[in-house]
Amino acid sequence: MTEIKRNPTRPVQIGPLTIGGGQPIAVQSMAATRTQDMPATRRQLELLQAAGADLVRIAVDNRQDVEALGRLSPEAQIPLSVDLQENYRLAAQVAPFVQKIRYNPGHLYHHEREKPVRDKVAFIADQAAKNNCALRVGVNCGSVDPDLAESFPAQDSISPMVESALQHCAMLDELGFTRYCVSLKDSDPEKVIEANTRFAAQRPEVPIHLGVTEAGMPPEGIIKTRIAFEQLITQGIGDTLRVSLTVPFDDKGEEIRVGRQILDDIYTGRFRSVPKVLGQGLNIISCPSCSRVENEAFVDLALKVRQVTQYAKEHRITIAVMGCRVNGPGETDDADLGLWCAPNFVNLKRGTEELGHFPYDQVLDRLREEVDRLIASR
Ligand code: SF4
Repeated sequence: MTEIKRNPTRPVQIGPLTIGGGQPIAVQSMAATRTQDMPATRRQLELLQAAGADLVRIAVDNRQDVEALGRLSPEAQIPLSVDLQENYRLAAQVAPFVQKIRYNPGHLYHHEREKPVRDKVAFIADQAAKNNCALRVGVNCGSVDPDLAESFPAQDSISPMVESALQHCAMLDELGFTRYCVSLKDSDPEKVIEANTRFAAQRPEVPIHLGVTEAGMPPEGIIKTRIAFEQLITQGIGDTLRVSLTVPFDDKGEEIRVGRQILDDIYTGRFRSVPKVLGQGLNIISCPSCSRVENEAFVDLALKVRQVTQYAKEHRITIAVMGCRVNGPGETDDADLGLWCAPNFVNLKRGTEELGHFPYDQVLDRLREEVDRLIASR
């Protein structure tokens, strides 16, 4: 098991679901249909519920969507969240039907431009409070508050996101509304990692919704998301997550299955990237494996690496075991020792230095030598 110390976030109640406060990380998704297409949206809800979603989000853009939401809401067996698009005033109409409302700070500028943003936030928070709803401050790289974006250098897209999230948290706090979580999403996993890490460092008590926006189709979309989640969750960041995949409507349950699989992999030490923050002692991580695995002996190899290095368990050493030559060389760079499989041999490296390749039945002895050398050098 990977030892993970979660951030001490406060609990946020979303109907019967609680995120934060040490609760398991909730997995959610979003209906991809036009909300007013009742049969299609109902089917999405059923699919996502059947896949084990903890929460489903629905987009609402106009009066017809609100009416559809009103009819779908009593049928839902899990909490619903609604995505307010540009019309923040819809909060009053949708709040009675949902347990959570997401608003995008960057969208509060489109309507009633003369009205202060703070008043709009106060309106949304008031509607949420009256209707027993939670809020999500959902900051998105593609739609950051234009004034904030201009106040940072053009090449810095992360600072405006973090600043926007912090400002809206401060506004909600001043309004006395603390039942909220925050998301900072980008399509680049590295930016997602940095934005969330920076935000969590300043507001470690605020629950965070993790996601890589427009991640794309599997398998690339899954890989991008997995890398961001691996790095953040191992740092204790993240209380709920969504995997955004471009898949046919009928396969939407895949977002939930992938989300749970990534969580399971993280907690059992199967990683696609080497997490920067891991437990204090020996950490053996192995990739989750996929069709690229070059030899079935990979799984056995990962197990044996764990067994033969147990004697070093008090030492802070990270060993990464990867299943193929495509990603193995790069993905092991951040480990102290890395192994990756080829059909008939295993490559070994120390940091970024390649040490050669060895038959499957000899590599473990060589690995132990390297572990001894590392221990002696520290
Ligand atoms: S390292 Fe290779 S085998 Fe392992 S998950 Fe990545 S691509 Fe698949």
